[in-house]
Order: sequence, then structure tokens, then C-alpha cells
Amino acid sequence: MRAWPAPDLPTLPVSAPPVRVHDSSTGGLVETRPQGPARLYVCGITPYDATHMGHAATFVAFDLLNRAWRNAGHEVVYVQNITDVDDPLFERAEKVGIDWRELAARETELLRQDLAALRIVPPEHFPGAEESLDLIVALIGRLQDAGAIYAVDDDLYFSVSADPAFGQESGWSREQMLAVFADRGGDPDRAGKKDPLDCLVWRAERRGEPALDSLLGRGRPGWHVECTAMALDLLGEGFDVQGGGTDLVFPHHEMCASEAQVLTGTPYARAYVHAGMVAYDGAKMSKSKGNLVFVSALRHSDVDPMAIRLTLLRHHYRSDWEWTDDQLWSAADQLATWRQAVAVGAGSPSGPVVEAVLEALATDLDAPSAVAAVDAWAAATLGTGGLADTGDPDAGSVMRALVDAALGIAL
Ligand code: ZN
Repeated sequence: MRAWPAPDLPTLPVSAPPVRVHDSSTGGLVETRPQGPARLYVCGITPYDATHMGHAATFVAFDLLNRAWRNAGHEVVYVQNITDVDDPLFERAEKVGIDWRELAARETELLRQDLAALRIVPPEHFPGAEESLDLIVALIGRLQDAGAIYAVDDDLYFSVSADPAFGQESGWSREQMLAVFADRGGDPDRAGKKDPLDCLVWRAERRGEPALDSLLGRGRPGWHVECTAMALDLLGEGFDVQGGGTDLVFPHHEMCASEAQVLTGTPYARAYVHAGMVAYDGAKMSKSKGNLVFVSALRHSDVDPMAIRLTLLRHHYRSDWEWTDDQLWSAADQLATWRQAVAVGAGSPSGPVVEAVLEALATDLDAPSAVAAVDAWAAATLGTGGLADTGDPDAGSVMRALVDAALGIAL
């Protein structure tokens, strides 16, 4: 699919340090060491509703990684998929009486507009599951050849016991896995399964449900195998970072990693990086609960998308936090202060701030520390009337480029 227009990416006077990220599989910080282009896969949305702040927080987090790599001199190949073959999409389409493809196209277009407004660097590849059906079916065939697939009635399941490393991505115990599997799309109690944790890779057509034609007959693939196929096809084995929200640690990323491990015998991704959850009105923001703050609704109320982005950046991407409107208004004030400071032209020395911001982002994408460094610079610059005679004459333009290149905020 077509992605969205790219924002300008200013070049910085210095190169950023190597990027370290928190890897869920080891539980610690790891240095990313891209060989050739840095390769990033971030799980995208199921397009049945507009982009909410939980999605935006995740995409902004991985945009920081994309930018940190680019600022460190790496080329980046970024893949973000669209899960346009999935139960929630079909259910919503049925409920509102609209064709599911039409609903997916409409919501995907809104996502493009939202992410462009938030200055997310677009992915090199923006694949949908339906357009990737042939390669997903081909991957299921390779898993069958590897002896990792069995049938229950006309459906196909991936056998987690085929992967001796199953569980490595999340580090979870079987008890932990079983506790959430059913709530996260699994069907542990289905009769005929060899292991309750085995995951569906192909659902044969049911009367009244959407189905696609394929070499496996009419039906549709499971969500996990969709991502595995798209990631391996577009990025290859052992790509640098698999990203998503913490709700994808298990089963989604575990199953993707296992399916790939069985096929290739090598680790799927080198690091698994997960963004925290955003709450609203006391609960995790989710479509099922309906407690959502939409990016598009704020944009249509004339909220500056840069204030939305800054609100997100004031929280570390790994923390769970609660959205409140007060934070948005406070970020809008902060943005106005930054704009005032760069408009002065000359200002407090920018060199140490460039270093501090790039270092913070290279250290597990620590945006709050980067934001604090920019705050301190703005306060020093405005507090001294711009240091017009003695200050850094280029500070305003350097800081404008820095805040844009590293944090994705256009001043
Ligand atoms: Zn995925």
C-alpha cells in the first residue's frame, strides 16, 4: 500500500551515538548493531476505527528509534503493516453495514493523515495482509513442510512444540501465557488441539464470514502468521528490532518469533522492543472499552499536532501513563516557549544541548530527558534576552534542526 508523505529530515552537525534499546527477551538494554540498513518492523493497526492516542504513542516511540538511527548515520528500512484481514474489522463492518474493504480503506486513509500530521517518518513498506496473501499462504506451506502445522477440522494450527526456543521472546512461563491467551485472541480450549497454546494460522471459510481464495482453499490467515510472512519477506531473517505495544509481547510476538525460528533456524529479530500502554478515564485506552482519544478528533478541533506529539514525548515510551487534557494544554504552552526561544536567533550555547539530546535518545529513546534539555536551553535563552552579543549566534537554527531531526517536532 501507499504510505504517507515524508516530513523533512534536517541534517545535524554531529553524528548521534549508537542506539541502545530495552529488549523484552533479555530484560535489559542492548546496543543495536545494524549490518547494512537498520531493519525495523512495527505491528500496525487493524483499520476499523481511527488512530487513538495509544497507537500514536507506539508509532511516535518507534519514530524516535528510526530518527536516532538516521542521526547515527544508518539507512533505515522500516516496515509497518496494516492488519486488514482480521475479526474486529469484519465485526465492525457487519455492525455498521459497510463493506469491510471499504471500512479498511477509509480508516487506513485516516491513519495516513494522522501519522503525517504527527511527523512520523513513513515506512519504506506499508503492506496489508490481503495484498500479501500469497506470501502468507506460501509461508504456511513451508511451515507444513517443516512439520509444524496440523489440522483441526478444516483449520490449520502452528504447533509451538516445533520450536525448542518457544517462550524466549517473552520469557514468560506457561502459566503466564495460559492466563492471557484467551483474552488476546487465542483459543486454548478448542477440542483437537495438541497444545492449548498452539495458534491458528488458517481459518477455513465459515458461512457468512469474509473469505479469500487461496491455494489452501477459501478462508483467511491468522494474525501472527501474517506478520511473520510480511516481516521475513520485506526485512529478511534476524532484523534489528521488532516493535509494538506491550500487549503484543505475548502471544503475538512470541508466535511470530517461533514460526520464523522453525523456518529459518535463526532468531526472528535481534531485539523486541515494547511501548507502554496509555490509559484514559482510569483504564487502558482500547477500542473494546471505548475510552479513546482520537488524533483526528483533536486535529479537527484545531489542536496543533506538534502539541500532541510533545505530550507523548513527555512520557518515556516504556512507561504506562494516563492521558489528560491538561497535559495537552501544558505541552502547547511548552511548544510556544520553544518557538519563542528559537525565534530569538542567537541564544544559549547549542553544542552541549545537541549532545545531551542525541545521547538521551540513543539511551533507550529517553525523550523526557531530551525534552528537559531543550526546556533548559529555552529558559536560558529567553532568560538572558537571547545573549545577542555574547551567546551562540546560530543557536536558534541549530536548535530548530535538532528538535525536528531528533524529536520530530517542527518549531
Ligand atoms: Zn504484528
